[in-house]
Amino acid sequence: MLKVGAVAAWLSVCACALSAQVTPDWCRALPRPEYKTLERVSVSDSWFEVYKPARGVFAIYEPHQFEEVISYLIVGEKRALLFDTGMGISDIKRVAEELTRLPIVVVNSHTHNDHVGGNWQFDTIYGMDTDFTRKNAKGSREDAQAEIAPDEICGALPKGFDSKAYSTKPWTITTYLKDDDRIELGGRTVEVITTPGHTPDAISLFDRADGLLFTGDTYYPAPIWLYRPETDLDAYAASIRRLASLEPHVKLVLGAHNIPVAPPDVLPRLVAAFDAVLAGKVAATPDSAGKVLYKVDGFSFLMRRLLTPTPHN
Ligand SMILES: [Zn+2]
Repeated sequence: MLKVGAVAAWLSVCACALSAQVTPDWCRALPRPEYKTLERVSVSDSWFEVYKPARGVFAIYEPHQFEEVISYLIVGEKRALLFDTGMGISDIKRVAEELTRLPIVVVNSHTHNDHVGGNWQFDTIYGMDTDFTRKNAKGSREDAQAEIAPDEICGALPKGFDSKAYSTKPWTITTYLKDDDRIELGGRTVEVITTPGHTPDAISLFDRADGLLFTGDTYYPAPIWLYRPETDLDAYAASIRRLASLEPHVKLVLGAHNIPVAPPDVLPRLVAAFDAVLAGKVAATPDSAGKVLYKVDGFSFLMRRLLTPTPHN
């Protein structure tokens, strides 16, 4: 998920409400009730909330920003893997080092700005070998700035945070990943599954022994963003089919926004919901700036309007 176009909203809010504190609607839905069932782990930085949804897995959640992005620290016996580094608004490296003393390798679910904000802090980064990844690894300022508009923030930004200087800082990929790679963490193996669609460099991670499927932005329980130029709907349809084929081996699905846990049956239901959209069976609800929302069976997809139904068998 990636928020764009918020700068205009920010300007209009600033013009008409000079002194009022903005409390965005999304913020009123927090805390989400699903978190009550999860074990919370205390950390020193209040920008983050950390939960332990499975053995040796920490969900590092950023509830004070609209994306409600979730990065995951997956801990083995010899090293740990940080699947995404969040917004870069506070110090995720320090939080990760409070959770493990093992060396940390960063892997990104994809390289939208809300998942790579802390990459620059790390020496070891495994990434995909795509033009999209290389472009994003150069960093950017515009998307980052849109993320801190008043209607994007719930509560306070971290003490000492410099809004004017905020940008996605560049980082360097140290090792290229490819489909089906195995990443050994010591007593724990994580499989790389390329899942292009949301972006060309989207991947999921699968801990087969523990039945944990980390889906990045290919699935999360909120409107799934499929409208950007880098989106490929056919690739997305194929990727979610591939993930659904793993359902018998999956115990928990861990997405990258809002809520870190979903049951395995969400995978085939996602396929059926997206197929219904592509087949033209779902009415479009207008959204902002030329985008529409297709809602079906508890899923929603933020897309450009499909002009003609795509036959899909
Ligand atoms: Zn994304």
